[in-house]
Amino acid sequence: MADNAEQHQQRMARKKAVVDAAIAQANQDKGLLLILTGNGKGKSSSAFGMVARSLGYGFKVGVAQFLKSRRDTGEEKFLGTQPNVQWQVLGDGFTWDTQNREADIASAQRGWQVAQGFLRDPTLHLVVLDELTYLLNYGYLDAQQVCADLSARPAMQHVVITGRAAPECLLAIADTVSDIQDVKHAFRAGIQAQQGIDQ
Ligand code: ATP
Ligand code: MG
Repeated sequence: MADNAEQHQQRMARKKAVVDAAIAQANQDKGLLLILTGNGKGKSSSAFGMVARSLGYGFKVGVAQFLKSRRDTGEEKFLGTQPNVQWQVLGDGFTWDTQNREADIASAQRGWQVAQGFLRDPTLHLVVLDELTYLLNYGYLDAQQVCADLSARPAMQHVVITGRAAPECLLAIADTVSDIQDVKHAFRAGIQAQQGIDQ
C-alpha cells in the first residue's frame, strides 16, 4: 500500500514535469482560427461559450449567423443584446430547398461583405462565423476569397467558424479544429428541440 502511494506520487510528479514543460513552451500569443465541425451537437453552442468568455474580459465580439433559420434562439436573445456584441443574421433568402440559386449566391455574398467588415475591424477580439461551411459547400462563396480574407484579418483577432463538413482549405489554415461526433441525439428518439439546450 505504501509502495503504491509512493509509486503514484512519483508517476504524478513525472506527469507534472511533462505538463509544466509543455505549458512553458506554449508561450506565444496569436489570433486563432478555430473550426468546429462534424455531425455531433455542440458546434454553435461552443462558439457562443467563447463569446461569453470574451465578454467576461470586456472584449468586443462580432457574430455573423449565416442561416436565416437560426432566429429566436436563446443566444440571440441574450448575447445579441449585450453592448459589446455586434449580432448579424445574414443569408436572407437562403433556403435549403434552393429555388433560386442566383438569389442565394447574391445573398451569401452580401452576407460575406458584412463578415469582411468584422474581419477588418481590429477592435473585435472575436468573430464568430456561425454555419459558414454550408455556403462554401454549396459554392455560394468562393473558398479562396474567404481564406484570403481570413488570412488578412488583424493579427490578434480570433475567429470561430462552425458548420458540418468544413472544406479542406479551411482546415489547412486553421489553428484549432474539432470534429464533433454524433454518438447519439435526442431528436432521433422523437424529442423536439429544447429551449436553452438546442435553441
Ligand atoms: P448546437 O447549436 O446545439 O451547438 P450544432 O451547432 O452542433 O448544435 P447544428 O447542425 O448547427 O449543430 O444544428 C443546430 C440544431 O440542430 C440544434 O438544435 C441541435 O441540437 C440540433 N442538432 C445538432 N446536431 C444534431 C444531430 N446530429 N441530430 C439531430 N439534431 C442535431
Ligand atoms: Mg450550429
